[in-house]
Amino acid sequence: MKKLPPKLNTDRKFPTNMTTAHALCLKAKNGEKGNQKGKRYAVPAFNITHFQGINAAFKAFELLGSSGLLAVSNSALKHFGEGDAIYGLEVASEYITKKAARSSIKIATHLDHGDYISEAGRRVVQASVQHLTSVMADNSTDKVAKAAMPLQDNADLTREVVDMAHPLGLSVEGELGVLAGEEDEDTKSEFSTYTNPDELDQFLQHTGVLMLAPTIGTMHGPNKGKPGSKVKLNIKLAHELLAVADKINPEITFVAHGASTLYPEVVKYAVEQLDKMNDPSNSKQKWLDFVGTDWDQIEGLIEAGFCKINTDTENRQTFLSALLGAITETSSKIDIRWYDNQCTDALVKSYIQKLIMAGNYGVWHEPKIDVKKYQFDLSKSLSDLI
Ligand SMILES: [Zn+2]
Repeated sequence: MKKLPPKLNTDRKFPTNMTTAHALCLKAKNGEKGNQKGKRYAVPAFNITHFQGINAAFKAFELLGSSGLLAVSNSALKHFGEGDAIYGLEVASEYITKKAARSSIKIATHLDHGDYISEAGRRVVQASVQHLTSVMADNSTDKVAKAAMPLQDNADLTREVVDMAHPLGLSVEGELGVLAGEEDEDTKSEFSTYTNPDELDQFLQHTGVLMLAPTIGTMHGPNKGKPGSKVKLNIKLAHELLAVADKINPEITFVAHGASTLYPEVVKYAVEQLDKMNDPSNSKQKWLDFVGTDWDQIEGLIEAGFCKINTDTENRQTFLSALLGAITETSSKIDIRWYDNQCTDALVKSYIQKLIMAGNYGVWHEPKIDVKKYQFDLSKSLSDLI
């Protein structure tokens, strides 16, 4: 008989206030906040790409008493490390660890879309196991050959990562199925494949992962479908998959990639700024053409155990919109901190909005703001909103 995959070592002690992504997502799946058990909620995974983004996320988490999940992609790590992903990993994780030590909430750091296929991918995953608290081993697609990996290869490579990470106490996220999207306009949703329940069963048994990203129709990037025809998620399949996973281990949590919604107020604000600027490029139409997934569909996924929801696009859009607003207001301030603060505060607002939508507040302490009264507004200063 094949050896069983190693269980996650939950005795591992991480630095102060650091924990695994799985620990936070399991709490969400069980609806745990403080000592109370209530409705299932989700932990948005925010992709951070710069230090101000980290600061903004901590501020939002602490205002709301949320579980904090910070994800870094390979390209973000290269940005932190000025081209060197491993160095970027050391720098970013050190910075987060220092901030976590004086925080009021718990934080997980997670490698987004790591892969164990390429040599470079393997090196980043191995280094992440030393510096982060959770890793994604996305072996579903061979990015160089641009082809789906055979199920067995995906499972074997993901198991290698579990064999390495679980004994050290790091949670591992796998991916099964192919997700369409990204910024390529020719990529259509037909190219994504839904996760098959039988394959899910085999994959979970073989790999032992406690976090799994199935494909049920979500897409990466800012254009989830075309204007007027949004992607439709297969919520029925999501529930079928949950039943399969729960039977193997009720501690398994699902992950929704490409789960960003579109904030209409952000689009409106950006368009207003572009009008004021008489923008000669065609940016306005691009803003108007952005298509996000409707939030009620994401809520359907949360009910089906998708307790990690990856949200990036709407935060990027908020940042950019605020930058347009700052430049429209004044383009001659010789103090870059002013522009920086406008954009960082906008990110805080965006993060607060998503955390409230996902129900991720009051987990580690009572929120310091009134979540029922909070209104996302880019034209007001952050201090006026909280
Ligand atoms: Zn993704």
